[in-house]
Amino acid sequence: MRRKPVVALDGPVGVGKSTVARKLARRLGFLYIDTGAMYRAVALDALRQGVPLEDFEAVGRRVGSLEIRLVPEDEGTRVFCNGEDVTEAIRAPEVSRATSPIADNPAVRARLVALQRAMGAGGGVVMEGRDIGTVVFPDAEAKFYLDARAEIRAERRARQMEAAGRATDRASILADLLERDRRDRSRPVGALRVADGAEIVDTSDMSEDEVVEALAQRIVRLTFPRPGGRCP
Ligand code: C5P
Repeated sequence: MRRKPVVALDGPVGVGKSTVARKLARRLGFLYIDTGAMYRAVALDALRQGVPLEDFEAVGRRVGSLEIRLVPEDEGTRVFCNGEDVTEAIRAPEVSRATSPIADNPAVRARLVALQRAMGAGGGVVMEGRDIGTVVFPDAEAKFYLDARAEIRAERRARQMEAAGRATDRASILADLLERDRRDRSRPVGALRVADGAEIVDTSDMSEDEVVEALAQRIVRLTFPRPGGRCP
């Protein structure tokens, strides 16, 4: 039997990838994999252990001893690191900032990419991140690059934080986002770019549900190319 498709979803900070990927996975009956959560878990561990974030060797040694597990649940994914539920802790702003140097670390990337490939090997996954279509699954059956103007992404991020009851400051959210974009695009390994064969979707003027719908229809056409073909 043909394996179910791997859907690779990449794009910059705050473009709405997580929500879109989660809803899309549910719609297709696929597993949702949030790879950013894995980098965040490594960053949280380094912060807690006092491992200097820029010390690539020390962080690289530490990542080998971490067991990172993503457990799907209705409203997303619970993230476990060495058995501890760190789902909420990895969303703290200081962890977001700490994740950039962690994601620059080639040893961290090698380890997490290997885990991600194992998680998606059987297909039937929507995997979301920065390097999914370029590095993790360059042969994915469906690849998308979601984009939106920076101001719109900052506004979406601010609303998300407000909904979660966190304090927001729009100017610093935008500055933070532009800095993370810069780092994401310039890292030597796994840099954010449009993968070969990926479809660019500008979501600036689309609702999340419209994006999900557009992607779902595209996936059905890409992977079941008969007229009226339906996803299983
Ligand atoms: O998507 P999210 O903001 O949770 O990702 C956290 C950080 O992890 C990002 O800023 C990015 O630098 C990094 N990341 C990455 N490669 C991925 C997913 C996330 O470098 N596949």
